[in-house]
Amino acid sequence: MAGIYIHIPFCKQACHYCDFHFSTSLKKKDELVKALVRELELRKDEFKNQTIETIYFGGGTPSILTIDELRLLISEVYKNYQVSDGPEITLEANPDDLTNQRINELANTPINRLSIGIQSFFEQDLKLMNRAHNVDEAKRCLQEATKHFENISLDLIYGIPGLSNERWLENIETALSYNIPHISSYALTVEPKTALDTFIKKGVIANVDDDVAQEQFHILIEKLVASGFVHYELSNFGKPGFFSKNNSAYWQGESYLGIGPSAHSFNGSERGWNVRNNSKYIKAIAQNTLPMETEILSTTDKYNEYVMTGLRTMWGVSLEKVAQDFGIGYKNYILKQSQKHINEQLLYVDNGKLLVTKKGKFLSDGIASDLFKLNLR
Ligand code: SF4
Repeated sequence: MAGIYIHIPFCKQACHYCDFHFSTSLKKKDELVKALVRELELRKDEFKNQTIETIYFGGGTPSILTIDELRLLISEVYKNYQVSDGPEITLEANPDDLTNQRINELANTPINRLSIGIQSFFEQDLKLMNRAHNVDEAKRCLQEATKHFENISLDLIYGIPGLSNERWLENIETALSYNIPHISSYALTVEPKTALDTFIKKGVIANVDDDVAQEQFHILIEKLVASGFVHYELSNFGKPGFFSKNNSAYWQGESYLGIGPSAHSFNGSERGWNVRNNSKYIKAIAQNTLPMETEILSTTDKYNEYVMTGLRTMWGVSLEKVAQDFGIGYKNYILKQSQKHINEQLLYVDNGKLLVTKKGKFLSDGIASDLFKLNLR
């Protein structure tokens, strides 16, 4: 099983907290789409023995593309790769792009899953984050999208300065009222050099409070689990049958091909990442070269990655798999390193799997790094 990720590096405006790769100038959009088509052709042999089960348009803001551009990219995937019957095809979309007409048109393409960047149902939060949409657009688009798509995910952000637990709960309840089967939710993080970082340093915006974020994370878990969602990954909740196939494959170490500037790829042993610059990307592809750096993963890299992703998911870290794939020394090491966290009730072992407890969930990335092995390459 394998997936294709296509990065669309354009956004209408820059959200204050974002450090993804995107440009707010659409001048190079046509050239970029041509380059994406070409990269799909150039790399077809890399995955010639694999069946593509998921196609994911991420960004940036993929909903900036026209319907024809999206159709073209999907047909290029079919032309160059072996695609399974009924693959999951996801489009990340922002509410301001999802007019009723647009949703109708999208429903007539092979795209069968929408991941909508709602983030909050309060105007003050959207303004603080500099989102391009408003609350009315968010609500209208969800109402319309649910008429045409069964498989919808929405994103919500917690830990926003000024977001009280009451308003956060209201956000979750509003999201639930649309009866959608998947929710992704993230704590607002302050990435270096973003506008949010600058505003906080200047005292224009209050800093994020980790304790509040942690409380809101637990409110989220409690409310969604009580509403029938499975908390299958740290930031992801799905009704049974609606987990993101694309992300699940990634967390379970499956191969994926990342197309477009800044996109990452993984083939089981090697990781690659494309240049994070639209002009350089377009220029290299026009010369039939891949603007990509690669790294062969050592056993330790693979172990660290497995621990990191495993602890974030409900599937946990299988001790047997650690012994089998990396060696008994790694199993002994992880058991030794885990002991402190098991004693502090942040980790537990169930059926041969190492898992984070409810208390440990918010801290799982930090716990994982304690279980990492130093890479002595
Ligand atoms: S729309 Fe998404 S990718 Fe674009 S700036 Fe906002 S958060 Fe970043």
